[in-house]
Amino acid sequence: MTRAYNFSPGPAALPETVLRQAQADMLEFGDAGASIVEISHRGPEFLELARQAEADLRNLIEIPDDYAVLFPAGGATTQQALIALNFAAAGQRVDYVVSGHWGRTALKQLVSVDVNVAASGEADGFRTIPARESWRLSKDAAYVHVTANETIHGVEFRPAWGQVPPDTGDVPLFADFSSSIASEPIEVSKYGLIYAGAQKNLGPVGISVVIVRRDLLERAGQPRADIFDYRSQLKGESMLNTPPTWNWYLLGQTVRWMIDEGGTAEFDRRSDVKSTLLYGAIDGSGGFYRNEVAPEVRSRMNVPFFLPDAALDGAFLSGAREAGLIGLKGHRVLGGMRASIYNAMPVEGVQALVDYMQEFQKRHG
Ligand code: PMP
Repeated sequence: MTRAYNFSPGPAALPETVLRQAQADMLEFGDAGASIVEISHRGPEFLELARQAEADLRNLIEIPDDYAVLFPAGGATTQQALIALNFAAAGQRVDYVVSGHWGRTALKQLVSVDVNVAASGEADGFRTIPARESWRLSKDAAYVHVTANETIHGVEFRPAWGQVPPDTGDVPLFADFSSSIASEPIEVSKYGLIYAGAQKNLGPVGISVVIVRRDLLERAGQPRADIFDYRSQLKGESMLNTPPTWNWYLLGQTVRWMIDEGGTAEFDRRSDVKSTLLYGAIDGSGGFYRNEVAPEVRSRMNVPFFLPDAALDGAFLSGAREAGLIGLKGHRVLGGMRASIYNAMPVEGVQALVDYMQEFQKRHG
């Protein structure tokens, strides 16, 4: 068996070292006498694993002590619903900046709050992010929500766009970091809340990470069941009910791998190398391949691109498969191709893709 280079947007490629360790721990975890998926979440082995995963994540992302970390079951969409319930009073204003599909999805999760779309890139096909000066923010908003990286549209807040993160004054900034967390150092203290589904840079699907300034947890929010209450979840160490132990384990292993590889500074460097290589190949193709995103907000994690004729898409994908490159089909919202090049994707994988793209162009250009 040979493993292909996997450009899937999520669930996405995991480091091979993590998968090999998981293979062993699936049979027997340390000296627990059973596999990692067969032991109690209340037992000493799992509690130690959970403690270590949080300590490692705090170390990797440099999370200050006045921020709590939650590991809720489920994905980012669930957090999009829960943040409004936990941090906005009924009828209170919430500000959203929509820079792509996932920002739009976040809006759909809102009930019984007063939604203000402060800015949107939709009129421009989400090829740009509206300049900070054009945002119509509300003074009394519970929070301002942004999507740090739009996984489908390939649009990311980059320094070339302006001040990142954008200044929102006294209103806390909430950010969906699902597809770019740990791809570079960030200043957590500039955010009120950061959330991410794990299935891109942090490991497997089925678990999320929420990093929240502790004082915000004092807010009353809206009536909600205890299980949907972040404050209760924190008190219960994200184990109010049986947590997804396997997913939590894989997340912990992936975080540890990122630390061993050199941390966020190293992944920042690699992301520059990989994305420069791929965008260079697209822009240098004489128009055969196209990426339509404004250069200052091009994502380093998700690179959508189009062939000159959609009739070539099938041939491109099947040839890619034969060349050991998978997961390149674009999202149905955009069509075309998309290469997701998260932390677990080596530079060699991107080089193999670029080589294949050039060869395909020779045959079909
Ligand atoms: N936000 C972003 C930026 C995403 O990429 C995704 C999933 N691709 C989501 C939210 C939704 O995540 P989930 O499927 O885990 O609910």
